[in-house]
Amino acid sequence: MSDHSPVLFWFRRDLRLSDHPGLSACRASGAPVIPVFILDPETEVLGAAAKWRLELSITDFRDRLQAIGSELILRRGPAKEMLLELIEETGAREVHWSRYYMPEAIARDKDVKATLKNAGLRAESHPGHTIIEPWILSPASSDHFRVYSPYWRAFKATEITPVIPGIKDLPAPEIWPRSDDLTEWRMGAAMNRGADVVARHACVGEKAAFERLDGFLDKPWSAYQDGRDRLDLGATSHLSENLTYGEISPRTIWQRVCEIGSGKEKGREMFLKELVWREFSYHLIYHTPHIMERNWRPEWDAFPWRADNEQAELWRKGLTGEPIIDAAMRQMYVTGTMHNRARMLVASYLTKHLMTDWKIGMDWFAECLIDWDPAANAMGWQWVAGSGPDAAPFFRVFNPATQAEKFDPEADYRTRYVAELAGNNPGEEALAYFDACPRSWGLEPTQNYPHAPLIELTQGRKRALEAHQHMVKNKTET
Ligand SMILES: Cc1cc2nc3c(=O)[nH]c(=O)nc-3n(C[C@H](O)[C@H](O)[C@H](O)COP(=O)(O)OP(=O)(O)OC[C@H]3O[C@@H](n4cnc5c(N)ncnc54)[C@H](O)[C@@H]3O)c2cc1C
Repeated sequence: MSDHSPVLFWFRRDLRLSDHPGLSACRASGAPVIPVFILDPETEVLGAAAKWRLELSITDFRDRLQAIGSELILRRGPAKEMLLELIEETGAREVHWSRYYMPEAIARDKDVKATLKNAGLRAESHPGHTIIEPWILSPASSDHFRVYSPYWRAFKATEITPVIPGIKDLPAPEIWPRSDDLTEWRMGAAMNRGADVVARHACVGEKAAFERLDGFLDKPWSAYQDGRDRLDLGATSHLSENLTYGEISPRTIWQRVCEIGSGKEKGREMFLKELVWREFSYHLIYHTPHIMERNWRPEWDAFPWRADNEQAELWRKGLTGEPIIDAAMRQMYVTGTMHNRARMLVASYLTKHLMTDWKIGMDWFAECLIDWDPAANAMGWQWVAGSGPDAAPFFRVFNPATQAEKFDPEADYRTRYVAELAGNNPGEEALAYFDACPRSWGLEPTQNYPHAPLIELTQGRKRALEAHQHMVKNKTET
């Protein structure tokens, strides 16, 4: 960065000014910085909710950049072509970005880097999406961890570098290149009427993410420890929504959490462990990218997963007749997120009671979640299904009825989201479901709730366990 030709900073899932190693490096060079966001084919295919929510994040981030005298230049098309076009237009000699560890992103970025370098340009990627990059930790015996507990111990023993101060200004180029009009991208098109409903629950942008973190840290750790599994309480941080667009860095959260309290509170360690599950998911996806597409354990290829089916469609619609499952599926439709325990319950119900392929559930989450994170989602589904690393043992089939009694003791969560169970006076969120869901489903708040569940719970459990035993027996015999 020796001359004063501008540098391009290509933003992807790092829409923030704080704790941003790549942007800080560009700022330190003194060169004019042109922030760029590209709607490339890898981003075009995002699920409806994630794509809609990303537009909100871009809008907010553009405002933040403008407030410090900068801009966000938008282009649509393959990233390599768009960057080369911008280099031609602006005379930039360098492109920087933050590393992202999804297989298709790695392939794209390698290609971009090679092309730019061949053209005599500088191309540099930086850390920031995770606290520790996915390749840093490894056990003595192999290049990656397959089990969470030793990963966590290794993580805890690692010194974390402190967060970097936020960017307060960015040198601007003499002339800004042309930018697309964000509204013309119509990133929310697939959300249809659901957008207005979900918008009431979204918490968008860097400032909101910091406020959310502050609000969470104001509460005692015991509230998290005692309440994190309760479906009826909002005891968790809800920061997954902001982390997924990089509106706050995971390192900022880690550091803030480490700074407060005596360090001995159980809830605090519990929270840090959750944050490190996110790190573990990127560690896994980096080392075993097939976790996104097929059974992480190949022996599971012999399991008789059912393909998409009518019962899975009723699961998607929140009409299984199991109140806790239906409440969770509707929570996702109304708020764009779902409680962690609820994610485990609906995943277990789909993959075990309904014996349906986990990929069908994973894809539906990708379509509906505003906190969709490809690594956490794939790991979560395979963990529950039993086919993943360090997975829950297959015999651990969650019983929705007993889980509901334990984690939603007054049925508040169920009645909050299932209007048909709320008597004469369903609440706002229960009714909002009927505004959010597709018209083609033809659902009305006045409809009858399914008079019988899709499958009797003991029978469903038995069927799944038998199929599993059969798979194990066949494997031992071959
Ligand atoms: C089937 C299934 C699918 C999932 N899909 C996603 C997804 O698409 N996006 C997503 O962010 N999380 C996913 N998770 C993980 C988890 O449910 C959410 O991260 C959590 O509910 C987010 O709420 P929170 O921010 O209030 O969590 P908190 O309890 O406050 O935890 C703090 C942070 O730790 C991380 N975290 C917590 N639990 C997990 C976990 N089990 N795995 C990975 N990271 C975790 C998240 O980044 C979270 O924001 C999935 C879990 C399952 C079982």
